[in-house]
Amino acid sequence: MRKKLVAGNWKMYGSLPRNAALLAPIRAAAEGLACDVVVCAPFPYLGQVQSLLTGSKVAWGAQTLSEYAEGAYTGEVSAVMLGEFGCSYVLVGHSERRSLFGESDATVAAKFAAAQAAGIRPVLCLGETLAEREAGQTLAVVGRQLAAVVERVGISAMRAALLAYEPVWAIGTGVTASPAQAQEVHAAIRARLAERDAAVADEMRILYGGSVKPAGAKELFAQADIDGGLVGGAALVADDFLAICQAAG
Ligand code: PEP
Repeated sequence: MRKKLVAGNWKMYGSLPRNAALLAPIRAAAEGLACDVVVCAPFPYLGQVQSLLTGSKVAWGAQTLSEYAEGAYTGEVSAVMLGEFGCSYVLVGHSERRSLFGESDATVAAKFAAAQAAGIRPVLCLGETLAEREAGQTLAVVGRQLAAVVERVGISAMRAALLAYEPVWAIGTGVTASPAQAQEVHAAIRARLAERDAAVADEMRILYGGSVKPAGAKELFAQADIDGGLVGGAALVADDFLAICQAAG
């Protein structure tokens, strides 16, 4: 049985008072939740999040990291630095990083490896654009994105990671993939892993992301290969985020 996990991606939103107001009810309610709960905050707030969530059932993480361990990389943040702020997760290869900041499959794989080297669990994001879906390339794109990482780190290293299937056309658009559309891709991702290692495939938690809202979350999470959610907009509203966590059982 894979334990469900719901992760919030705050993107570049937040302020010290807004974060505190958001986290207080989440921290309190997490005690009664059956799923794992994670929030991924902007870098400057990781110290605040650490002090507000230490000792709670909510884990936290960052939204990206540097592929390098240290050096003259102005503006970058290393995995070891994230570890100092108690991060146990980091998003890798989010579609906004790929499309807006030019992260290639190779860069994403290097970031994944850097996170793991520092003991931080990467959440590897995979997903196709609308044009790619319409061209029938969904599984090829997602398979290529996954293979780039597996070839770099090896299949056993995937044990310490999570995957998130996030169709680009569903992120921040209000359009959610239907449960059947999402399940089809999740099952295909798991089958790709199983070609290399059946146990890794079976244990892997594959989150769905893309306009997840309280309405509809239960049906998504009821699909056989959907093990929770990666939530953007709705993660900024405590009641919505908690309702999604509750839908994860
Ligand atoms: C995301 O940022 O990963 C995401 C899925 O955003 P949203 O839920 O707003 O579509």
